[in-house]
Amino acid sequence: MLSGFLGLFGRQTVISDQVKQWPDARRVLFHLIQSWSKALKDPEEIPVADVADLIRQFSEEFETIRKLGCEEGAKQGKCWPMKCDAINNVLEDVRLRLEEDPSQRFLMSQYLDMVARHFGRLTLQAYENTDVFAIRMDMMVDMEEERFRDERLKDDPEEAGREWRQLRAVSKRLCVAIKCCYCLQCGKRLVLNKELYQ
Ligand SMILES: [Zn+2]
Repeated sequence: MLSGFLGLFGRQTVISDQVKQWPDARRVLFHLIQSWSKALKDPEEIPVADVADLIRQFSEEFETIRKLGCEEGAKQGKCWPMKCDAINNVLEDVRLRLEEDPSQRFLMSQYLDMVARHFGRLTLQAYENTDVFAIRMDMMVDMEEERFRDERLKDDPEEAGREWRQLRAVSKRLCVAIKCCYCLQCGKRLVLNKELYQ
């Protein structure tokens, strides 16, 4: 009988291959999103329609990433699906705006730059200080949030400019943090008393 109990204690945590491979896959995809942002900055590099098409293909596959939160061994926060949705929704907006008005390529390049950092902080080790890449990306997101919390500009949004206001709105959409989630990223924002989603 005792050996049965010991068996329970000795059971190894199963971690699926997808969860193990996530840090590498994330790094590749992070650089991919950054490369689209870079390409949009240079009108000679690639036609805007091609970038829009690449974003569409990526977006269509995003559900696979969202489902990683259900894989064995994933320790994602409760915020995981919301973060995935926020990123994918912004990607969808970027694609539509590029298709409707290619002259928005420079602004959309900045959107993608932001999306890359938020994508980089998607972690399946949300409660431990072990995912260094995600921690670094979250710190960059923090700095960005500060940039858009500039009180002087908040007092006079007109002066801040239309582009700045659009970027701030995207930053707000991407900065998902929820009260009922105790992952390191949400917890940090809760402690710092930042604006939280319910
Ligand atoms: Zn969270």
